[in-house]
Amino acid sequence: MKKEFAVIGLGRFGGSICRELSDEGLEVMAIDIDEDRVNEFASIASHAVVGDTTDEAVLKSLGIRNFDHVIVAIGDSIQASILTTLILKELGVKHITVKAQNDYHEKVLSKIGADKIVHPERDMGRRIAHNLISNNVLDYLELSDEHSIAEIVASKKLVGYTLIDLDVRAKYGLNIVAIKRGKDIIVSPPADEEIHRDDILILIGADSDINRFEKRLL
Ligand code: ADP
Repeated sequence: MKKEFAVIGLGRFGGSICRELSDEGLEVMAIDIDEDRVNEFASIASHAVVGDTTDEAVLKSLGIRNFDHVIVAIGDSIQASILTTLILKELGVKHITVKAQNDYHEKVLSKIGADKIVHPERDMGRRIAHNLISNNVLDYLELSDEHSIAEIVASKKLVGYTLIDLDVRAKYGLNIVAIKRGKDIIVSPPADEEIHRDDILILIGADSDINRFEKRLL
C-alpha cells in the first residue's frame, strides 16, 4: 500500500503542515537534520526521523519513493532545498511540493520539475496587505501574476442592487462567481440576484480590476 506524506524540514512551515496532516488522521513521516526538531514531532507524526535529505542514500533508505506526496520545507538553505528536490525527482517521487524562498529559488525549482511551488511568506504578505488597504477584502488568492480571486464584503453602497445593476463584468471585467450569505453560498449567482447587507462576494479577475472595484466600495 502507498504511504501518504513525507515532510522534509520541520521549521514553522513544514512543522505546521505536519501537524495539520496528522490532525486530519493522515500518515506523515517527518524528517529533519536536526535531532531536537525531530524529537518535537515524535508524538505528532506517524514516524519522525533524523536525516540529511541532500544525501541520496538517506532518502533511499527511508523508502521515499513509496510516498504519494513529499513536501520540501527546508527554509534555511536554498542549496539543500534544491538538491533534495533534485534527488526526489531522480528517485521518481510523483508529487513534490516545495517552499520557495525567493524568485530565483522558484525558477530553479520549476526547471528541475517540482510539481508545486509555494511562497507562504510572500502570499500571506500580499493577502494581509490587501486586507490592510481595504477592510472589505477578507481574502485574496493569487491565480497568476496578474489574476486573483478575492473575497470582498459588500459595502452599504452595493446593498439593494442586483448583479445586472452593478454590471461588474462590463464595467470592471470581473466575474462574481459566488455570494456567501450567512451559512449559504450561492454559486454562479443569477444576474437578478440582489445584494444583501453582509453578503460576501467572491470574484475573479485581473488584480488591477479588483483594485478598481475595491475603491468603488469605499
Ligand atoms: P521556516 O522558515 O519554515 O521556519 P526553517 O528554515 O526554520 O523554516 O526550517 C527549515 C528546517 O529544515 C530546519 O528545521 C532545518 O533543520 C531543516 N533542514 C535544513 N537542511 C536540511 C537537510 N539537508 N535535510 C533535512 N532537513 C534540513
